[in-house]
Amino acid sequence: MPECNVCGGSSFAAAPNNRLSRKKQPPLCTACGSLERQRIGRDLASAVRIRDKFKTYALLDVGKDATVPKGWFASNKVIEPTDSTIDRLGTDRGKFDFIVCSHVIQKLRDPKASIGRLLNSLSNDGILLLNYPSPVTRETTEQLATGYRTGGPRYIFGRDFEQAYRTVAPDTYVVAADGKDPVTQDTDIMYFLTKSPFWATKMVKSMNARLVQ
Ligand SMILES: [Zn+2]
Repeated sequence: MPECNVCGGSSFAAAPNNRLSRKKQPPLCTACGSLERQRIGRDLASAVRIRDKFKTYALLDVGKDATVPKGWFASNKVIEPTDSTIDRLGTDRGKFDFIVCSHVIQKLRDPKASIGRLLNSLSNDGILLLNYPSPVTRETTEQLATGYRTGGPRYIFGRDFEQAYRTVAPDTYVVAADGKDPVTQDTDIMYFLTKSPFWATKMVKSMNARLVQ
């Protein structure tokens, strides 16, 4: 019986729109609501975590998200996962030490600019955990929609988006980590961005990961 690594639950259902995992397993934990990406992110963040360091860190969740527990950190803040809220982060320069932005940027008007803003609000010792659909399954990024629309995705990202980090995130280490969901066994790629050589080294050592730049 698979167990949810976020809450310990063992009962799973189809996700919204009756979605099943790529391996056709029900991905939604009925106890905590976690999906593949939260459990994979939890696994990878746990591997990287240094308890005493994280205890001094300020957490920012872009959108409500259970990938990392609030209790790991000194403080936490949640912002709406929208273009305008991320734009306004400019005033919070260097304020956050751990930022989770999972399945958000594909819905934004300008994902690259938003990543830049998140990096501006990240401290020099901080980590940005970035995850988006779906470089694990595709090579090439596609724009699905232009102009204004609410809700749905505007982009689906391929592994080619990794090349964009050269301009989006100069002077930043980008680590691509492969994770596997303990419940559905689906795999995903999560990106960890940091300006800290200490964290970059630790990440490559602690996860099944490669240095993108
Ligand atoms: Zn759970």
